[in-house]
Amino acid sequence: AKDAGRGTYRFYSEEMNAKSAFRLTMEADLRRAIEEKQFTLFYQPKVEIAKNRTAGMEALIRWNHPKKGMVSPADFIPLAEETGLIVPMGDWALETACRQTKELLDKGVALRVAVNLSTKQFQDPGLLDKVKKTLSEAGLPSQYLELEITESIAMQDVEETIATVEALRQEGIHISIDDFGTGYSSLSYLKKFPLHSLKVDQSFVRDLTVDSDDAAIVESVISMAHAMGLSVVAEGVETEEQLAFIRDRECAQVQGYFFSKPLPFEQLLDYVNAN
Ligand code: C2E
Ligand code: CA
Ligand code: CA
Ligand code: CA
Repeated sequence: AKDAGRGTYRFYSEEMNAKSAFRLTMEADLRRAIEEKQFTLFYQPKVEIAKNRTAGMEALIRWNHPKKGMVSPADFIPLAEETGLIVPMGDWALETACRQTKELLDKGVALRVAVNLSTKQFQDPGLLDKVKKTLSEAGLPSQYLELEITESIAMQDVEETIATVEALRQEGIHISIDDFGTGYSSLSYLKKFPLHSLKVDQSFVRDLTVDSDDAAIVESVISMAHAMGLSVVAEGVETEEQLAFIRDRECAQVQGYFFSKPLPFEQLLDYVNAN
């Protein structure tokens, strides 16, 4: 921008200022949101296709902004990651998910909850202790917790990551790889990790009935994962046709609008009881 004409430079820098002003406001909002606990967790059922019953659920954060209403995580998770605010936010999500899952357990509904972990949280050397402490404070047995990590997390500091995953697994916590296929890892690489399951990214599921490449990707991911002893969850299943394709490839579980959107905690219990 320095080499461009004065006008261009000024225009560019004004745009930058507007952007950073927006960012600063948003960051301040986000800090306040953490202090004032303006977040809530929604839960999306994971359905076991063969039995047509709820096999688990994923906790998904929502920001109930005082002025903007429900804000989707896509609009604030990136900033939360950049600023490190993802750590206190993630702690809150983990605590809340464990507490609410225990509440369900006490009502006779035994479901494992999957919580998303960001890179920063995963790299925290205190992660294992934090997770153990959170589980014990909630009174939730560790088998009811699953942590979803992305391929990009798994790609960093391989040895350390394997050690962390191993330690969590030893505790009885389930580990799954989220958004599989969007990163640069391969199944043969992931073989080094003591994982339980793999979630096929919804971008491949979306067009699998019309795009033969996507169909081939989903099909081969499912069969390779099975060969490696991993269970597979197909994300973003919205239609009967997608479900049929997935079912025919013997993928056991799906998550998607076809069965249910993410629900507020109070509605989740109704969903599970009705299904
Ligand atoms: P994700 O972990 O891949 O979660 C699945 C996303 O797909 C959710 O979006 C869910 O609502 C959406 N989804 C599920 N089924 C369907 C479907 O059939 N069709 C379509 N079009 N979408 C479907 P959501 O809740 O907006 O979350 C977006 C992302 O934000 C998540 O993607 C995750 O990466 C991140 N996120 C959400 N909660 C947390 C959290 O507590 N911590 C961290 N670190 N990240 C979170
Ligand atoms: Ca996820
Ligand atoms: Ca995902
Ligand atoms: Ca995704």
